[in-house]
Amino acid sequence: MIVGIDLGTTNSLIGVMEAGFPVLLADAEGRRLTPSVVYFPADGSAPLVGAPAARMRLLEPARTVHSVKRFIGARSGEDSTTTDAARVPYEVDDATPGAPVSMRMDGRIHTPEEISSHILAKLKTDAERALGQMISRAVITVPAYFNEAQRAATRRAGELAGFKVERILNEPTAAALTYGLERLGEKSRVAVFDFGGGTFDLSILELSDGLFQVLATNGNTHLGGDDIDRVLAAQLLERFQEQFPAADVTSPILLSTLRDAAERAKMLLSTAMETRVEIPFAAGAESLVATITRDELEWLARPTVERCRFHCLRALEDAKLKPSDLQAVVLVGGSTRMPMVRALAGEIFEREPDTTQHPDEAVAMGAVIQAGILSGAVQNVTLLDVTPLSLGLETFGGLMNVLIPRNSTIPTKAGEMFTNAAANQRAMRIHVVQGEREMVRDNFSLGQFEIEFEPAPRYQARVGVQFEIDANGLLKVLARDTKTGLERVVELKSAVDVADERVGKMIADSVEHAFDDFHERRLIEARLKANEMKPAVRHALDAAGSELSAEERADIERRLADLNRALGGESLPALQEATSALDDATQTLATILMERAMEDALRKKGVI
Ligand code: AMP
Repeated sequence: MIVGIDLGTTNSLIGVMEAGFPVLLADAEGRRLTPSVVYFPADGSAPLVGAPAARMRLLEPARTVHSVKRFIGARSGEDSTTTDAARVPYEVDDATPGAPVSMRMDGRIHTPEEISSHILAKLKTDAERALGQMISRAVITVPAYFNEAQRAATRRAGELAGFKVERILNEPTAAALTYGLERLGEKSRVAVFDFGGGTFDLSILELSDGLFQVLATNGNTHLGGDDIDRVLAAQLLERFQEQFPAADVTSPILLSTLRDAAERAKMLLSTAMETRVEIPFAAGAESLVATITRDELEWLARPTVERCRFHCLRALEDAKLKPSDLQAVVLVGGSTRMPMVRALAGEIFEREPDTTQHPDEAVAMGAVIQAGILSGAVQNVTLLDVTPLSLGLETFGGLMNVLIPRNSTIPTKAGEMFTNAAANQRAMRIHVVQGEREMVRDNFSLGQFEIEFEPAPRYQARVGVQFEIDANGLLKVLARDTKTGLERVVELKSAVDVADERVGKMIADSVEHAFDDFHERRLIEARLKANEMKPAVRHALDAAGSELSAEERADIERRLADLNRALGGESLPALQEATSALDDATQTLATILMERAMEDALRKKGVI
């Protein structure tokens, strides 16, 4: 039996397939939603997890770790880590740049994976109690944009909790599985709009006959309902300061209380138009009382919510689809309960959003379905993911040669034939590169190796290179000398897990430098062409130059000198002009050689 787990920023859930249906399991109190909160008692006794820990958040904020998902797999010195660390009331140790972030409680260090493992261990115990049997295998979901370190840390957290982690699954894909399971017979394209407490994910999937294919995915691991709570809490703090100018506003308990009140007010305003926030004894004997309307909340939340738009448009662009090409935009994640979020999703995708899925449970249900697919409990369903960046090889001139473009569905395979640039070369270096820039030096290097082949004249060797990405995103590179059949297979790390910041930066850079990159590629290609042409012309002159007039020969020599000069410069037009002038000047020479070759061929056939 394999369980499915949604390890959320705010809440976590666990479930299992029962009699062919995905079901979520409740804890001893009957709650399916376990707050992702861990409280460390001062006396060093066992931490409290879930609802009891969440209650301690107000009383002892410095000992109560919430939103640990924001730190899992994070390293000190990353911008987002520093911002997150400043925003939580517990102590985050992020002083050593490049080192993993940890939490400090009474001088003791706790890593984010250890803290997450407490949450997972509680889910495991609750599930074992509900099922009456031990469980050890799990599928755990993560945001689509989690990078490799974040995924590895999540996997480690699972292992620390005693699980064998069978699969790390992207959250929006999980939600789509839940949505799609009820519509197995239909062929449709849907966008899953997942707006939770800490992350926003947008994935576009195609469902047909039980095949789930991710067409594009985009998102932000630092965009969620928490951001809205923060701006609303800041607004409450302002009102508090207006009412009580002399009060101490630095107390962590006050700040936690305001955050809590802000979140509660935000949630109420999803259905009410107005709500009252009351914080008794906020300033000594005085209480803070404030009224907030939905309009006010929406005004404050607008900049946060609007940030989702960019990611949606980008995913549509990557999938090469228009909103009208989709059949639905499915909303999941707690923050999609906000009317303004629903309106935004409706506006971007030009339709009434689909709210049939339970916003808090759809991801966990999907994890359960994936667990079912792996264990064989669910059949006729296959899930396909995509590559976040293009994969290719370095070729002549340091250029990137793409074999598998960005956003290709995995598993996938692609191959191409390469040749030798130098005569009698004995080996070829296969440099595997990931990224969107034209030059290898601007992309990420995934690894390199050499393949030997039989020495051959220039451009005569044939080395086939094949890239293969399996369902887990693992990239295998095979290189084979077609003449001898000698081959090498090298397994590289995941081709799918790339840090969201790196993907975002790579794409932004590729857009920013598109013009320069394009120009550089053309210049390099023109140089390669010119460098190929020079010896060929020399060779032709040696072979048949005597049949040309002295002027024709001098003209060719002059054009060759011009080309050499252009090769020394940086001007693409000058190079192109010199190449085509040399091409023109050698027309007669080319014709003579062609005629000779024809005569040779005919003579060989005995025709003349
Ligand atoms: P998730 O990460 O999917 O569990 O979503 C948690 C986020 O949803 C938190 O930021 C919650 O404040 C938010 N949320 C939950 N219920 C509501 C609601 N009724 N209205 C607005 N936001 C909500």
